Amino acid sequence: MKSRITLAQRYGQTIILRAYSKEEPLQTPEAASVDSLNRLILSKNLRSLIDSIDELGAMLPANLTKHDQRILAVEEVRKLLADKKFKKVDYQQLSNEMLFASRFPYRPNKKALSEILREHDLPKSNFETTLTRFADDDIVILERIQDWMELRNSLAVTARVMGNLHNPPKLLKGEVQNENSNGLLRAGFQQKEVSKLMKNTWGLQHHFFRTFSNYYHTDFVYNPYKLDRYAGEILEKRTPYHHSVISCKPNWYTALRNQNQKKRVLFLTDQLIRDDKKIEDMDHQLCIGYDGEDWRSLAQEFITSMIKGYMNPKIDWATSQWSQHPTFENSTLIEALWNQLLYSKGHSIIVCQTCGDATLSPNRGKPSVYCSGTCRNYYNEHYISR
Ligand SMILES: [Zn+2]
Repeated sequence: MKSRITLAQRYGQTIILRAYSKEEPLQTPEAASVDSLNRLILSKNLRSLIDSIDELGAMLPANLTKHDQRILAVEEVRKLLADKKFKKVDYQQLSNEMLFASRFPYRPNKKALSEILREHDLPKSNFETTLTRFADDDIVILERIQDWMELRNSLAVTARVMGNLHNPPKLLKGEVQNENSNGLLRAGFQQKEVSKLMKNTWGLQHHFFRTFSNYYHTDFVYNPYKLDRYAGEILEKRTPYHHSVISCKPNWYTALRNQNQKKRVLFLTDQLIRDDKKIEDMDHQLCIGYDGEDWRSLAQEFITSMIKGYMNPKIDWATSQWSQHPTFENSTLIEALWNQLLYSKGHSIIVCQTCGDATLSPNRGKPSVYCSGTCRNYYNEHYISR
């Protein structure tokens, strides 16, 4: 018995509440089908994201920290509700927490959010009544919306880079020709030179800006922690999932975990740039540092870093003993989604010629070049009929 998704605010962040009976499995890796992965990485608004979350089940990272507090007893949640520890969703806060990383990143506005919140906001969804159907020792899962945003975005960005590397589209919307075109740019990254000023200011806190002379960047996910400084303990409390994928080492705090020596992949947040910019217009970006390397080798390294940082694959010895084609463990939904993206049999990643976003498409039949019917129609109307 699973409850409908309810959104609320707690610790100044938007969270998702779902009740489960204690007999029900919490981890559902089998929910990570090709279709459900596609729906997650192609979701472009709160409604499609919530539908996708509903379909996939609970997001329980393997490396939950003591601060995560993702699983509470129904009894405990009843008490928190009675004590008004959960609040109504704050539209501005939610809008800040949502960024659909895409070739053209999208942040929903208040109006778009209010439509969906009419069904799912805490007071309207009446979560207390829902809980009357559950026993005291049943379970409520609390997930931060930004964790889902980060999961969606990490998969979507990696898919876009993989698609542009291994199976590049002939011509993207608006392109005149694609000879020698740079797949990272086509995947939505932009290039920037590290200025002397950046080296001397941001470089003091983060050696990324001293190590590399240029970087690629793309809007990624908003981490709405407003800290005085990058203090590990506070960061871990505010964003346990994000905290579990970054290195947290001095001078490399926001570099992605488990990278090779070069540590090219970095999350750039307000903490690094606050001396230079107002908090209001801060950037939250995923960056790849480089000097003279060509985009292909960087793309390869980026994909490997993302897999190691987010999934940290472990060989499943039960099915792979002595096999030339090992399979990787699927014990969490997160691992299962990554496995689906990387090793789906009979599918390839394609890049949509209209929107530039990537999706898994079956190998049989005529290869698809669009992510959806909408994108196919758009391309036909605007480019082919003329
Ligand atoms: Zn498309």
